[in-house]
Amino acid sequence: MKKIGVLTSGGDAPGMNAAIRAVVRTAIYKGMKVYGIRRGFRGLMNAEIDDMDVSSVGEILHRGGTILNTARSDDFKTEEGMKKAINILKVFGIEGLVVIGGDGSFRGAFDLSQRGFPTVGIPGTIDNDIACTEQSIGFDTAVNTVLEAINKIRDTVSSHERTNIIEVMGRHSGNIAIHTGMAGGAEGIIIPEIPLDVDTLCKRIIKGRHRGKSSSIIILAEGAGKAMELEKEIEEKTGMETRATVLGYLQRGGNPSAADIVLASRMGHHAVELLEKNIGNRVVTIKGNEIMDDDIAEALVMPKTFNEELYQLSQVLSI
Ligand code: ATP
Repeated sequence: MKKIGVLTSGGDAPGMNAAIRAVVRTAIYKGMKVYGIRRGFRGLMNAEIDDMDVSSVGEILHRGGTILNTARSDDFKTEEGMKKAINILKVFGIEGLVVIGGDGSFRGAFDLSQRGFPTVGIPGTIDNDIACTEQSIGFDTAVNTVLEAINKIRDTVSSHERTNIIEVMGRHSGNIAIHTGMAGGAEGIIIPEIPLDVDTLCKRIIKGRHRGKSSSIIILAEGAGKAMELEKEIEEKTGMETRATVLGYLQRGGNPSAADIVLASRMGHHAVELLEKNIGNRVVTIKGNEIMDDDIAEALVMPKTFNEELYQLSQVLSI
């Protein structure tokens, strides 16, 4: 393969730029030509395609977001959209594509591969909800960003002797909540995977106060409830002042952590190595600190798990 393309799709994640840089520089190092496709699959259908050279990815390593922009496109999912995309790739002479994104993006990558166009996915999403890989690009940074917010909120919450519910991202996955709750010493973690027992939670808050705790932090994954509603319920049941904070987009931005930059660089390099050998329909993964790859179709049907052990440990440590 001599000409490849790279795009970012779905939600942005810190470290995506490091993955783009690794794809571009590895490809150039191997004597390949590389194109940057703007605005995900939507941009691909609109031929928003630029030549990338070594310096086009200079000074981006430390920047959050994605220099290629990202977008969502329903048109791309149609037969017509798919044909349009493949036609544009042919016009540019692009022989293989790297798609950096979440599992929705991998479905798009799979569809392209099914139509004979070699595509490799790189997991880039702060949610860490892709079953085939132990870690996705952006998760480590997001966890550290949320931890910083928890620590700041803890200062004011303990001064006022309140309870604070902090709503974090995770519509279907409690990964961010479990890791940040554990790292931030939360008194409670509420995740979509485990039904919420408000009464037990309130008893724990009251018990903590009785033994002299000055504050309680509850981490709530957005898919498990609404912070504002829980705020009222907990205040009523504990009789203690309770507030809610929704962290929102601040969790997605910011400079990527060293761990995310290193992970993204390794994954970007591996994706190009696969395409160089004409291998498509793969998703790059990390397992036991080793960079590997899986069949996209198999990866998409793998059951999603969450770190139950870490969740249980947080319950033990927050007595
Ligand atoms: P995040 O986890 O951050 O939400 P994601 O990659 O899962 O990222 P989606 O919005 O689900 O984000 O998908 C991104 C894009 O991938 C969609 O806008 C669409 O263009 C394409 N896509 C999603 N699902 C499919 C599908 N079933 N077939 C083809 N393309 C798809």
